[in-house]
Amino acid sequence: MTDLSKLFSSADILVVDDNPVNVELLIDLLEDEGYSCIEGMTDALKVEARVHNKRPDLILLDIRMPGINGLELLELLNRTWGEETPAVIVLTAQIDEATRHQALQLGAQDFLTKPFNHIEVLQRIRNTLQLQRLLSDRQEKTNLLESLVAERTQELRILSRQDSLTKLPNRQVILETIEQLRRKNCDLLTFFIALEGLDEIGRLHGYEVTDQALCALSGKVQQLTQLPIRLLGVWSTEQWVLLCETEVSESQAERIAQCILEAIQAPLSLQLLSVHVRARVGVSGSSAQRNAEQMVRMAAVALPTQDGQWQGYNQVLESSLLRKNQLSDALYNAIDNNELHLLYQPKIDVRTGAVRGVEALLRWNHPEYGRISPMEFIPIAEANCYITTIGQWVIDEAISALLRWREHGAVDEYFTVAVNVASAQLMQAHFADDLIAKMQQSGLPMHALELEVTESDLMQDMQLAVQQLQCLAAAGLRIAIDDFGTGYSSLAYLKVLPVAVIKIDRTFISEMHVNTQDQRLTSTVIDMARHFQFTTVAEGVEEPEQFKLLQAMGCDLIQGFLFAPPLAEPMMLQLVASGFAETPAFSA
Ligand code: C2E
Ligand code: MG
Ligand code: MG
Repeated sequence: MTDLSKLFSSADILVVDDNPVNVELLIDLLEDEGYSCIEGMTDALKVEARVHNKRPDLILLDIRMPGINGLELLELLNRTWGEETPAVIVLTAQIDEATRHQALQLGAQDFLTKPFNHIEVLQRIRNTLQLQRLLSDRQEKTNLLESLVAERTQELRILSRQDSLTKLPNRQVILETIEQLRRKNCDLLTFFIALEGLDEIGRLHGYEVTDQALCALSGKVQQLTQLPIRLLGVWSTEQWVLLCETEVSESQAERIAQCILEAIQAPLSLQLLSVHVRARVGVSGSSAQRNAEQMVRMAAVALPTQDGQWQGYNQVLESSLLRKNQLSDALYNAIDNNELHLLYQPKIDVRTGAVRGVEALLRWNHPEYGRISPMEFIPIAEANCYITTIGQWVIDEAISALLRWREHGAVDEYFTVAVNVASAQLMQAHFADDLIAKMQQSGLPMHALELEVTESDLMQDMQLAVQQLQCLAAAGLRIAIDDFGTGYSSLAYLKVLPVAVIKIDRTFISEMHVNTQDQRLTSTVIDMARHFQFTTVAEGVEEPEQFKLLQAMGCDLIQGFLFAPPLAEPMMLQLVASGFAETPAFSA
């Protein structure tokens, strides 16, 4: 027995011939060669059933047979088994060209011509089995590869539809789910959840803690089983969308939003740490006209600005967002289009009535939108970081205005101009150095420029802010705390900050003549400022009574409509020239 025959000795071979002598002959031959699994069949009609029971590796098939001939049987097998039809070697006596072609067409692998040449028979059988083995090995490998690819495709499909960290469904799934529910006319509330404070947690404890917090929070929200949650998904790392299949009503929105806020804002224990994430929630309700993308967008538009709050979508929010976008775009060209200018509001010496300086206040006049209040456009400029460019422009304008006034002798050498500085400006690494260089270049004394910063701005990054301000103060610029009393008022930071001026906020001044509490607070601030040798400025003085009280308390400077609103340069310079000593407020 040859090595190759050994390899195939267990191959299942079926010999089909109506002549039992031929069957016998072939079986003997094959058995002698070492094949152990051979079956002979003289009734061709039973072959199909045998193949069904046990599919042979090879059929040696006679052509001319009663009942069903070889070709018909081959055709039948092909029909039933298709590509899985066992290999067939056709046994023939004389065969014409047409029959040969037909057999090949039906998938016959080879022919054996009677009378059989033994060596040839064995060789052809081996060849066919070997070819079959190769084909089936290849098929096996192809099948394996196909199943691996299918598995991986499925994995990738899942991955492409979920957030890699929390494993929550992603945007695509969120939108598809809303769309599906919408098609079924389901009532749906969409909650847009903005998570806050994660960046601080990351900076403080490391970003793995942020990741842990996100995973823990996703678990917590999903466990709110009392809510009709359809899906919690990730819109972006710190923005999630929760879909609830429920009646669209204010009370439902409120109940669910409160639950979400409570779950997220409760202290979170992560190993040895307790961290605190905050959240804001915007809500939109389904309606026939709103598609999935709109539902999410509306919920996002509804996000309140304050942490711990929720808000439902309404048209006013939409128009205010639209206006913000329009202004944001328009602001981009405001400097180039010459739409900005400064007004100057005098600060009056309480003792003498002299104008000791001015605060430069920015104004924006847009050809289409008209005059836009700084209360409206400064926050927009801050949000898109355009404030640094605008702030630079304000400083340049203020410096050149002061140079001009000094040149014309309109103001004395002690006259100051104050500019408001936003936190984004202080966060620029070179802010202090650049400003000092600019002042040196201008030839102005450093004390002529005052920088008004608010307490809340300072709190954003105290360390960097303090560095910059110390640098500026050391060079001689004056630092003023604006809106004092409205931010995270803390005496502690007054010790570390190089403050020269405190501007008491209008909210304390406006009621002080009728509210003893405000009066006491203002008086305390003035006393304290004197102790630290800060100059005090009272903002928003409108009433003579307020002025009198501030005078009595020893406040240094007054800024307010009682004396002058923010003014254009010529008008302001007139008031500098005349002073206020002769006005009723002083002479009374
Ligand atoms: P602020 O720095 O506290 O400026 C004082 C604001 O109070 C000014 O409002 C001024 O017009 C107003 N005001 C002054 N006296 C009175 C008064 O007696 N009664 C009342 N009711 N209001 C008075 P304005 O000009 O609308 O500016 C608002 C805020 O916009 C400023 O508050 C400041 O925070 C910001 N801002 C203005 N210009 C700039 C700027 O160039 N850069 C930056 N970053 N912020 C600016
Ligand atoms: Mg100010
Ligand atoms: Mg102020």
